[in-house]
Amino acid sequence: MTTNARDAMLDPALFTPDAKMQSYWWDLAGNRRVESESRIPADVDVLVVGSGYTGLSAALQTARGGRRTVVVDASDAGWGCSTRNGGQISTSIKPGFDELARRHGPERARALIREGQRSLEWTGEFITGERIDCDFGVVGRFHAAHNAAQFEKLAHAVTHQPKGLEVEAHVVPRSEQRSELGSDLYWGGVLYPRHASVDPGRYHQGLLERVVQAGATIIPNCSVSRLERSGKSFRVTTARGEITARDVVIATNGYTGALTPWLRRRVIPIGSYIIATEPLDPALMARLMPRNRIASDTRKVVFYYRASPDRTRILFGGRVSTNETDPLLSGPLLHAEMTRIFPELAKVRISHSWCGFIAYTFDELAHIGNHDGLRYAMGYCGSGVGMAGYLGMKMGLQVLGREDGRTAFDGLPFQTRPLYYGRPWFLGAALQYYRWRDRSGR
Ligand SMILES: Cc1cc2nc3c(=O)[nH]c(=O)nc-3n(C[C@H](O)[C@H](O)[C@H](O)COP(=O)(O)OP(=O)(O)OC[C@H]3O[C@@H](n4cnc5c(N)ncnc54)[C@H](O)[C@@H]3O)c2cc1C
Repeated sequence: MTTNARDAMLDPALFTPDAKMQSYWWDLAGNRRVESESRIPADVDVLVVGSGYTGLSAALQTARGGRRTVVVDASDAGWGCSTRNGGQISTSIKPGFDELARRHGPERARALIREGQRSLEWTGEFITGERIDCDFGVVGRFHAAHNAAQFEKLAHAVTHQPKGLEVEAHVVPRSEQRSELGSDLYWGGVLYPRHASVDPGRYHQGLLERVVQAGATIIPNCSVSRLERSGKSFRVTTARGEITARDVVIATNGYTGALTPWLRRRVIPIGSYIIATEPLDPALMARLMPRNRIASDTRKVVFYYRASPDRTRILFGGRVSTNETDPLLSGPLLHAEMTRIFPELAKVRISHSWCGFIAYTFDELAHIGNHDGLRYAMGYCGSGVGMAGYLGMKMGLQVLGREDGRTAFDGLPFQTRPLYYGRPWFLGAALQYYRWRDRSGR
């Protein structure tokens, strides 16, 4: 499409004249290419493929542990989801205790849920300990019920938490909802006071700087196209030449491709879409987000939103399409959903619209492991701001052979399905089905 044709699609009632089809966080994070290298060395101890939270967090450990570490990315450092997300941090485990206990037994289920809780705490401790300036705050999440049955279910879950796994949570009835969120659409919800928010781009930038300070080399625009076993090492072909690495860490998550066909069959790339609004009147922001919570809802096709760190804009995200990657088209769909929740935003325009590919898995759990000598951590199912950094850290410790690198996620069977080779042909039907369920009140 020509630039003129694209400009014509910018409906002036929906988009500001200078609207950007890229991440809002990229405006705030400054130059992400700073201190990166362009030459690739002949050999290293650890090669990390992917420079998001997973890859950088692994590299931080290996570089600090004295291993010569190189991180490569097919694009700019942090080009993937790690600088495009909503910056909401929760406990990151989707299946409930009963489901996990049925699959893996009660002990493993407990350990997995505890580690999800730990990933949330760890992220706060890490950001504070490393003094990363990224507007991290324990602001609390309001999880809103989209119908009466879901409210009953949420309230029941809060009062019947599995023993030993209780987290702080408060039921908010519909009559008190306005104290959390300026919307009457929902049927009440639950407040999780420990959930947090961050500026994901500046978090990534801080992590990148720590990795460089630790002695690792970052090489952007360096796609890896081939991996071959060579004795105890790997011979790796990249866009900037060949490199031999003793350990290779695959940290490609929703961008996992033909390089690693075994992993590609195990992660399902799903588009996640998000918009930022133009600056709001402060009084309006005070009505919509009175306590500055992050928010999500009980719909299976979930919507999530929050105020920007400076409380001037609303950032509103969700899955409005299965494979569309044009933010010009997803922006208006998100705007319509946002306006259903907050009718007062009907005349507020979009200043940024963007998307990225998250990685779902068939068991809705993240996975860390080693296949044919290749190490990997991925599959955060849309909740990777905490978990990707956490499992990346565990992966780095595992490369160092350290006992504290062990995790309850080690050795989980990483499932695929017959006829699945990395293109999720079933996604359209699945999304339609879940939308129908959401609408029909289930
Ligand atoms: C719109 C959106 C909103 C989101 N909101 C939230 C949220 O609020 N909370 C939350 O917890 N999670 C959220 N997520 C998910 C979260 O951002 C991801 O789970 C997390 O960033 C994954 O980090 P990662 O390092 O594993 O992968 P990424 O950050 O995606 O990095 C993968 C990198 O691998 C590189 N790569 C791929 N193949 C190759 C190759 N062959 N050679 C070299 N490099 C390669 C890519 O270029 C990419 O930069 C959101 C995601 C999106 C898209």
